[in-house]
Amino acid sequence: MRVVVCVKETPDTAANIEVSEGIVTWSGTSPVINPWDEYAVEESLLLKEKGLATVCTAITMGNEDTCEGIKHAIAMGVDEAVLVSDPALAKADTLLTSHALSQAIRRFDHVGLVIFGRQAIDGDTGQTAVQVGRRLGWNTLTYVSKILALDVIAGTITVERMLEQGKQVCIGRLPTVISVLKCINEPRYPSFIGLRRASQFEIPVWSGADVMLDPAVTSKVTWPEVSNVPVHAGFAEIIEGTTAQEKAEKLVEKLIADKVI
Ligand SMILES: Cc1cc2nc3c(=O)[nH]c(=O)nc-3n(C[C@H](O)[C@H](O)[C@H](O)COP(=O)(O)OP(=O)(O)OC[C@H]3O[C@@H](n4cnc5c(N)ncnc54)[C@H](O)[C@@H]3O)c2cc1C
Repeated sequence: MRVVVCVKETPDTAANIEVSEGIVTWSGTSPVINPWDEYAVEESLLLKEKGLATVCTAITMGNEDTCEGIKHAIAMGVDEAVLVSDPALAKADTLLTSHALSQAIRRFDHVGLVIFGRQAIDGDTGQTAVQVGRRLGWNTLTYVSKILALDVIAGTITVERMLEQGKQVCIGRLPTVISVLKCINEPRYPSFIGLRRASQFEIPVWSGADVMLDPAVTSKVTWPEVSNVPVHAGFAEIIEGTTAQEKAEKLVEKLIADKVI
């Protein structure tokens, strides 16, 4: 069984993100693998090491200089990697991103499991995994905190999902799409050999034609305007007083004076 892992490249959380004239730029650090996707890659490698998967394949969508994410996956140890890149995918929303990724997944045989990170730290919608599952017509199980069982012969997967209400155990039929949480494993650090392999790895680039993008699928959500987060000017005033009662009375006076109460 092949396990596919979808890996996104994002700015480093330490980057200085700036917006000028609606263009988002980030400086000071190189882009990185989306932190949630390290856990997705690690889970695919662990399944292979347990003999439950034969091949780990990483897919990323972006432009040709957005390969830091997938290079990290190669350095961690995935067997194969592919970049889906096409001018038609520039500024893609999640609908177009999920279309491109699902078209790429269809090109591989024996895919039993597709693993996503819970979300990307830049777009942050958490929508892509569910949309890819819908497009492929496969089960989708999000917020997976543990894979309890994977029976390739019977064609089933049993997972534990971590929800606000508590843990939920679900059994699904393969092929399945999952998104994973950070508590699922401890990602390995790429070894020196892994890093060298990644630096020499020729990453195949698949165009829109290669994955048979449907021209009718276009972005529905556009970002007409991107602006800096407004800076809130605030101040705090410490209410002095010898007793709590005195402080409370002074606070009430101020709130009345400011017409808050
Ligand atoms: C420069 C720029 C311009 C953009 N312009 C627009 C715009 O005009 N309109 C709009 O709606 N959105 C825009 N986006 C956001 C873009 O649509 C989303 O980043 C993208 O669709 C993925 O959604 P997300 O980031 O919310 O990922 P999530 O859904 O939060 O990601 C969940 C998981 O999906 C997988 N994944 C996500 N993206 C990829 C990828 N590219 N390759 C492989 N796996 C992936 C990863 O496993 C990730 O952990 C823009 C993004 C960028 C960087």
